Amino acid sequence: MAANSVSFSPLASARAKFVLLGAAGVLEHRVARSVRSLKHFEHINTDLSDNSGEGRTVHRGPGARERLIRDMRHWFFSRKKNHGFLLQGFPADTFEATLLDEWLDCRDESLSGCLWLDMSRDEALSQARRRVACRDHGQVAYVEAGETHQCELCGATMSDDSEQAVAEVDTWFAERAAVAEQTAAYYRERGQLFRFDASRTSFEEVAGVAAAVTVDR
Ligand SMILES: [Zn+2]
Repeated sequence: MAANSVSFSPLASARAKFVLLGAAGVLEHRVARSVRSLKHFEHINTDLSDNSGEGRTVHRGPGARERLIRDMRHWFFSRKKNHGFLLQGFPADTFEATLLDEWLDCRDESLSGCLWLDMSRDEALSQARRRVACRDHGQVAYVEAGETHQCELCGATMSDDSEQAVAEVDTWFAERAAVAEQTAAYYRERGQLFRFDASRTSFEEVAGVAAAVTVDR
């Protein structure tokens, strides 16, 4: 699918620092996959529930938020100054957004922006119903009815992943959509929000806007 092969190369050379907001289990996977192919652009996904090494295991249970914040603080201050990143799942609310801003201030850095891939629940569900995945590699894709898709890593035909995807969308809208809106408002007030109608925006547009607002310093 063409939408999956968009290059995020404008972000690669820049010291772009982005927060990605959007419904878990749908569209951000595609953005994330494009970003993952870039070696010096760090993608941190605190929503990942597997141990693929491409992100962090989701934190749940008592003290989970404190552990997540501690891990993220450690990551932030360990990274090389001004190296680009795309954060997904953190900050999840305005409290965490405030923390991230404080950390950036500490190192005299600033966020390039918050990319909000806004999508209605109905649209997210309709996308989720088209998700296929490679069980071995966690690669996902979205196909039209009757289409098949091969895993880019092993070549195997991906299998129906819609049940899992629909569950992720349901959970996200029940637990996090309202908070994501508040987080978006936080960045809007600071002039850092870039909202996309995720049901109709191409990934070229997202990449183009992201590149345009990136300050290289
Ligand atoms: Zn595979």
